Amino acid sequence: MPLKTHKIALNPNNKQRVWFAQQCGYARFAYNHALSDFKAGLDNDEFLSTSKLNERFNVAKKEHGWTKEQDQVVANKSIFVNLSAAIAHWVSKRAKFPKYKKRGKRDSFTTNNQFVQVVGKRIKLPKIGWVKMFQALRWSGKIMKVTISRTAHRWFVSITVDTEDTEAVANLAIHPVIGIDVGINSLSTLSDGTKYDNPSPLKRYERKVAKEARRLSKRTNGSKNWINQKWKVARIHYRIACIRNDAHHKAATDIVNKTSAIGIETLKIKNMLKNRKLAKALSDSALDGFLQKLKTKAAARGIPVTEASQFYASSKTCSSCGHTKDNLVLSERTYHCGQCDVSIDRDVNAAINLRNVAVGHTETENACGVQVRPQSEAGETEARKAVWQQQLLPI
Ligand SMILES: [Zn+2]
Repeated sequence: MPLKTHKIALNPNNKQRVWFAQQCGYARFAYNHALSDFKAGLDNDEFLSTSKLNERFNVAKKEHGWTKEQDQVVANKSIFVNLSAAIAHWVSKRAKFPKYKKRGKRDSFTTNNQFVQVVGKRIKLPKIGWVKMFQALRWSGKIMKVTISRTAHRWFVSITVDTEDTEAVANLAIHPVIGIDVGINSLSTLSDGTKYDNPSPLKRYERKVAKEARRLSKRTNGSKNWINQKWKVARIHYRIACIRNDAHHKAATDIVNKTSAIGIETLKIKNMLKNRKLAKALSDSALDGFLQKLKTKAAARGIPVTEASQFYASSKTCSSCGHTKDNLVLSERTYHCGQCDVSIDRDVNAAINLRNVAVGHTETENACGVQVRPQSEAGETEARKAVWQQQLLPI
C-alpha cells in the first residue's frame, strides 16, 4: 500500500502553541547536541553511530533540568530519523554536511505516531491531547509518521498514512491526450487552447515585501520590535506561497481530470535563470513546482506523462508541418510558419507539439512490439487513438 502524506493546518489553543514551540526547541537541542558529538567524533577519526549519539545525548540531557518535562520521543526521533537521514545523505554524497538547526528556521518536530488518533477534524497528540484541524484527514489507514511544523504564524501537522484506499482512476478511454506548455505569460497552455493564468503573487506583493524588509533592516537585531517585524515579513511570504500553490493545485487538478495522457517539456531552469530579465518572473511562477504537482496528481490517477527530450524545440517547431525555425524571440506571441503559412498562438503551437510527442511516444512503443498494456486492454487503446484523431485541433 502506498504511503501518502497529508499536511493540514492546525488550530491550536495558546497552551498547545507554547507546547509546540517548546518541542521544536527540544528537537533542535537534541539534533544540534548529537551533531556536535558526531563532528567531535570525526575529528578523532571515529564515526559515531546514531544509537551511540543518542546514548550520549541521554547522558548529557540530565544536566539540563528542563528536558525532563519535554516529550522524550521528540528528541529520539530528531536523532534517529532526522539527523540519521542527514548523515546518510552526506555519506552517499547526495547532500552537504549537515548544518546546525537555527531557531525560527523550519521549526518542526516528529512525535510518537503510535499514540496518535484522528477523528474528523481533530487529532490527538501525545502529552497535549486533542488539537483542532482545519480539515479532516484525506486518507484512511495506519498512521506511520506525524510531524508538527510552523510556517510563519501557522502550525501544521503532516500525517503520513499507509493508505488502504486507492484514488479514482481516470477514465482513460474517453479523455484526449493533452500537451502542456508552461511559461511566464500563462502558467500553462493546453493543446486544446485552454490557458491557465499565472497568479504572479510576488509581483503583486513586491512593493509590500520591499517596504517591510526595509523596516526590518532598521530595527535593532534581536529586539522585540525586530522579532515582530520579522514575523510580519514571514507572513507576507507565506501569503505569496499560498496564492501560488493554490493556483498550481487548481490548474493541475483541472488538467488531470480531463486527460488520458500528458506531454510536457523538460524545463532547463538553470539555463532559463541565466536570463536576468526573466529570472524574477520565473522564480515567481515556480514552474518546476507546478510540473511536480502535475506529475504527482497524474501518477495517482494512472495517467502517463511523457517528457520531451531537453533538446526538443517545442516552441520553434511548426505544429502543422514540422518545420523548425532557427530563431524565435520571446516577444513573438504568434507563431507564423514560413513553410506552410500557418499562424497560431505561440504557446498553443508548443503545446500541440508536446501532445504529439506524447502520442508518438505511445505509438512507437506499440509499433516496436513493446507491450505497454495487457492484451485485454488493446481495444481500449484503439478507442483512445480514435478519440485523439477527433480531438486534433483544426489548424
Ligand atoms: Zn508549418
